[in-house]
Amino acid sequence: MRITGAVLERTGSPAPFATSRPFTVGPLDLDEPRAGEVLVRIEAAGVCHSDLSVVDGNRVRPTPMLLGHEAAGVVEALGETPGEAVHGSPDDLRVGDRVVLTFLPRCGTCPECATDGRLPCRVGSAANTQGALVGGGTRLHRDGQDVHHHLGVSAFATHAVVSRTSVVRVDHDVPPDVAALLGCAVLTGGGAVVNAGRPRTGDTVAVVGLGGVGMAALLVAVALGHEVVGIDTRPDKLAAARRLGASVAVEPDDLGATGVLAPVVVEAAGSARAFETALAATAPGGTTVTVGLPAPAARASVSPLTLTTEARTVVGSYLGSAVPERDIPRYVDLWRAGRLPLEALVSSRIALTDLDLAMDRLAAGGELRQLITFDERTTP
Ligand SMILES: [Zn+2]
Ligand SMILES: [Zn+2]
Repeated sequence: MRITGAVLERTGSPAPFATSRPFTVGPLDLDEPRAGEVLVRIEAAGVCHSDLSVVDGNRVRPTPMLLGHEAAGVVEALGETPGEAVHGSPDDLRVGDRVVLTFLPRCGTCPECATDGRLPCRVGSAANTQGALVGGGTRLHRDGQDVHHHLGVSAFATHAVVSRTSVVRVDHDVPPDVAALLGCAVLTGGGAVVNAGRPRTGDTVAVVGLGGVGMAALLVAVALGHEVVGIDTRPDKLAAARRLGASVAVEPDDLGATGVLAPVVVEAAGSARAFETALAATAPGGTTVTVGLPAPAARASVSPLTLTTEARTVVGSYLGSAVPERDIPRYVDLWRAGRLPLEALVSSRIALTDLDLAMDRLAAGGELRQLITFDERTTP
């Protein structure tokens, strides 16, 4: 079928992207879903820092690639029922179901899938690295040329074909905006708290770096009844953190003066400096969770002595140590109970054609989630 999508033509374009224009919005051909795959009409898609990392070349991916990995939509068609050769969970999906698209297809049978979310699926990761679906190859073409998938999703488009293992069904009372955010920001940020930090009742949770992922971590910690400390260099982010329930919100340089030390600290900024700030904010006996993705060459300064004498734990949480099928229903329950106001993460609404500029705004640091919304009028 013909779809409309935003294709990233090359990585490493210079900023500002509004000038270098790395995206082309236009028609593509999308194959039918194969066995174990699903055709989804995209309703909402978030712009995440991991998209920017591909645009600016920090994460090298094959191009041309149709970006976008945080999204929700409605199932329009199902491929054949998965057989032995296709990785799939019990097929309870129906046409018309609303689904969260996730960037972590899980085969369920590899050694990594047996780590309870600590490691991402070997099969899914290999497909993601190749820009392919776990079923092999691409379903996206333009002028006869293959276009790569982004993290098995490619949601900056009117429609997507994805593996059954890349979607989690949610009830229709979960609106598309909320469902989309569950797919990356909440899965990653919430998972850093719940799966990796594992705070005990009454523990204070601190979050360093209040972008989409960090703010989602903050919201989940507040929802679970923890006192939360927000740490960021931007006053507007600190004000937002206070609005969303942080009892303390400070710049890193002011942290020492507050005397705050938290048993669980999440680093979600993706820089060595933020990691050092997170260590400094962690109480003796506490856990520092790092979920940010710094540049590969980044190095931080750590005192091994304090790790020993203060019995500290440092946990790397890749993608929130998430198991989407297990974790997403928990966040939905919290949202439905009125305890997780994810709508507050949407900082602006944009169209596909705004993506170049959206990347500049994301790089500038002022945005939580810019959301692309689709409706029948945009469907060719
Ligand atoms: Zn993301
Ligand atoms: Zn696996």
